[in-house]
Amino acid sequence: MILPGSVKECVQALAEHGAAAKLVAGGTDLLPQLKNHLLKPGVVVDLSGVATLKKLTADKGLRIGAAVTARELERDGRLATGAYRGLAESGALVGSVQVRHLATVGGNICNAAPSADMIPPLLALDAEAVIAGPRGERRVPLRDFITGVRTTVLGADELLVELSVPDPGPHSGGAYLRHTPRRELDIAVVGVGSQVTLANGVCTKARIALAAVAPTPVHARAAERALEGQALTPQRIEEAAKLAVEAARPISDQRGSVEFRRHLVRVLTRRTLTTALARANGGQA
Ligand SMILES: Cc1cc2nc3c(=O)[nH]c(=O)nc-3n(C[C@H](O)[C@H](O)[C@H](O)COP(=O)(O)OP(=O)(O)OC[C@H]3O[C@@H](n4cnc5c(N)ncnc54)[C@H](O)[C@@H]3O)c2cc1C
Repeated sequence: MILPGSVKECVQALAEHGAAAKLVAGGTDLLPQLKNHLLKPGVVVDLSGVATLKKLTADKGLRIGAAVTARELERDGRLATGAYRGLAESGALVGSVQVRHLATVGGNICNAAPSADMIPPLLALDAEAVIAGPRGERRVPLRDFITGVRTTVLGADELLVELSVPDPGPHSGGAYLRHTPRRELDIAVVGVGSQVTLANGVCTKARIALAAVAPTPVHARAAERALEGQALTPQRIEEAAKLAVEAARPISDQRGSVEFRRHLVRVLTRRTLTTALARANGGQA
């Protein structure tokens, strides 16, 4: 086990040990994988000593360190209203309180599970991933970061340092909802994060991101386009929800059928858009 004190030392450790090294943040995804012998890293690089990865700053947008926990997203007052509320909601849904104190946003993204809850709201906020490696820093839009089930653009010698969220501007609202058969300690059958920005009663920007309906998170682009430039009436929201269903490519498994997942996409898109709209209008829904 290596315990670096800075991002630079993390990068050095990764450069030294290459593909044999595995990063650990909260360990809530990694430890079960180690216990089940799915992974056998030569060395584990523990991120818990890197203070800069734990910072969350809100100043014309957000900078969220990769090791910020789900519990911090849930509890941070700066995320409690309006534009960032969907992000707080996603943090609040992860696991149990004990899991949320450990589970990091970076771990959620880098583990790249299709059902990961903290990814859709960040996608809906147009977040960028800030990556550190031996050649310095690079930035990748989060929508391009995940390449498949449990795979990302990260090289073996790189780590995710931060999520950079642009300022959504005034009159913006977001919401995240998921469906799980159990109230807690369950993973999303479908998750939907929606974000809207308004000017003079018209939607200037809409984002709808879907989880657990494809190998990677999905942007419902046609649905977004149907809302932009329009007043968001219940009929337009319902129409967008139907278009979001067409973007989903769900499978049937023991957690839900294709038909059920499509139904959930429609319902959760309608609900998250309706709530995001109320929040953009200043409501505390
Ligand atoms: C009981 C239980 C319930 C859960 N419930 C939910 C849930 O409701 N919703 C949900 O989305 N998830 C859930 N999870 C999964 C998990 O808690 C989350 O995905 C969590 O956010 C992972 O973060 P972590 O810090 O624990 O990651 P870790 O386990 O430390 O790491 C996960 C992966 O990411 C890599 N990694 C971590 N940080 C970085 C970084 N900065 N740069 C590059 N790679 C990195 C690691 O190498 C590893 O491959 C649950 C897990 C458990 C055990």
